[in-house]
Amino acid sequence: MSDVNVQLGNGPTAKMAAPVTVAEALKKLDRDVAKQALAAKVNGREVDLAYQIEAANDDSVQIEPVLPETMAGLDVLRHSTAHLLAAAVLDLFPGTKLGIGPALLEDPRYGFFYDVIAPRPLTEADLPVIEKKMRDIAKRNMPYRRDEIAKAEALRIFGERDEPLKCELIDEKAGEIVSVYYIDGSPFLDFCLGPHVPNTNRLKAFKLLSLAGAYWKGDAERPQMQRIYGTAYFTQAELDAWLKQREEAEKRDHRRLGRELDLFSIQEQYGQGLVFWHPKGGIIRQQMEDYLREELIKRNYSFVYTPHIAKRELWQTSGHEQNYGDSMFAPTKLEESEFRLKPMNCPFHIGIYKSQQRSYRDLPQRYAEMGTVYRAELSGTLHGLMRVRGFTVDDAHLFCTPEQVQQEIFDCVDFAYEVLKTFGFEKIKFELSVKGSEGNKLFLGSEEDWQKAEAEMAAGLDARGIPYDRIEGEAAFYGPKIDFKIEDAIGRLWQLGTVQRDFNLPERFQLEYIGEDNKPHRPVMVHRALFGSIERFFGVLIEHYAGAFPLWLAPVQVAVLPITDRINDYGATVVAGLRAAGLRAEMNVRNDKIGAKIRDAQLQKIPFMLVLGDREMEQGQVAVRDRSKGDIGVMSLEEFKQMAQRLATTRALTNN
Ligand SMILES: [Zn+2]
Ligand SMILES: [Zn+2]
Repeated sequence: MSDVNVQLGNGPTAKMAAPVTVAEALKKLDRDVAKQALAAKVNGREVDLAYQIEAANDDSVQIEPVLPETMAGLDVLRHSTAHLLAAAVLDLFPGTKLGIGPALLEDPRYGFFYDVIAPRPLTEADLPVIEKKMRDIAKRNMPYRRDEIAKAEALRIFGERDEPLKCELIDEKAGEIVSVYYIDGSPFLDFCLGPHVPNTNRLKAFKLLSLAGAYWKGDAERPQMQRIYGTAYFTQAELDAWLKQREEAEKRDHRRLGRELDLFSIQEQYGQGLVFWHPKGGIIRQQMEDYLREELIKRNYSFVYTPHIAKRELWQTSGHEQNYGDSMFAPTKLEESEFRLKPMNCPFHIGIYKSQQRSYRDLPQRYAEMGTVYRAELSGTLHGLMRVRGFTVDDAHLFCTPEQVQQEIFDCVDFAYEVLKTFGFEKIKFELSVKGSEGNKLFLGSEEDWQKAEAEMAAGLDARGIPYDRIEGEAAFYGPKIDFKIEDAIGRLWQLGTVQRDFNLPERFQLEYIGEDNKPHRPVMVHRALFGSIERFFGVLIEHYAGAFPLWLAPVQVAVLPITDRINDYGATVVAGLRAAGLRAEMNVRNDKIGAKIRDAQLQKIPFMLVLGDREMEQGQVAVRDRSKGDIGVMSLEEFKQMAQRLATTRALTNN
């Protein structure tokens, strides 16, 4: 036996007799860490805690523990839970054939899955039974045991177990020695590199979520499998919080609310990813655009309008074809020219800038356009309004002198802040993406330009006391940028608009202005969008408000509800009065009981309901219901009109 020096990260080192397991070594180095660790990296290689550290001739062996509450830890936890799921399925349904079972860390909906072919098709009703079996195995505290066997032996074992898919994987992926994992006391055996948690009782907070169809290797020609989805967290409290948010997110799903409130549709027969704004959604869009237009005028922007297609050569000059071609629709030919749909508006605004000689006195030029763009997104990536093939950007491009750019960017940041607040987002987060010192990504522009631009952007955020995260290496290849993110009503983060410096396009298009020195200079170009995509912003708004828009955005602001037919005439004068005051009012004259009419208006999430009976008619009054507070009393029509008008013109976020 000989000794080995083991170091904990960059911390303490201890000499110990080899071989020693990672678990024992950690215990000697730091008892707390040893208790918490799920797995570890030994000299950079991921291993189980049971891994044996051998005597080393050279320097010390370095152990990096994989701890809870880290992404690496979550990966090990969820992957181990997927094994537990497979073990439970095999226990309950002998003869089940297993596919793969990875952890999912990026998918907001699930935490892991396992693909199986059970002897009979599984149903949702099986999930609680499987979950209970998982808990039984977890409680028995069985170790995850790793074995290394020859490839031929592995093929024989999985062959005997009638696991053709695992054999196929081993054939394709394994070297001469195959790593397999057992859970003791379970029929389950997996071909897997690990690492896993040491024992099943480390898995305490998990839940199976749903079943879906899946093909082996995603190939529709291969056997149809069933995918069992679940998730796992380190504590029950974390899992409960996530489940609550998931339930809340489902209630707010913009696709469902879009249908129920008749706001928009996407129709397969017209094309996936193409959005139809219905009249009620159209009112909301119009409000969004009207508000933005008011602000653009205040801030001295010019409105421009540009085509949807341009000659292919333009996209070659701009570099879109080379850098972005996969996301563009294919060229279409007319006479001797080829044309492509625009994926971005930038080169068009450059065309306007370039249409005449510019002097420093003309700058800054600020061009704003609701610019509709088209992206060739694959059907599998489309999602409601969040990811589409055609959308409109509240786009603007600023052309200015280097001396002006800092102020222009500050103004964009202020503008974004103002707009997002107006739409009811209290928690706004900015991210400054910079070039960073490492990485092999190609960045255009001189080091000096970058440093100056980054410093200016940071100073702008600092001066406003706006908290922001600095993200190294995430800048666009053509310049640093500030992204706007908001947190919605249930705590989800959404990335919206952006302000970006561009070192690239002014060069490519040889943009110029004549300076005070009478010589040509290169202007600075800034791209900026506040909503980003209007479609996507609309989707975020629907989910943020769960369809109950503030009065200024609500498609119908007031529902007028006569109790009986004989009140309809009075109802009509009330509606006319409200409309004359610029309010969006509708009367429900269906032959329903008043309770049903109120229920209907509630479901449509209309901010106010005016219930009209004989007394209201005789006294020229209205009985007002608020969609969230219920009855708020009887008042004169005039009084109500003034209140509603005030809420609309101030763009109030609540009915107060
Ligand atoms: Zn595994
Ligand atoms: Zn642009």
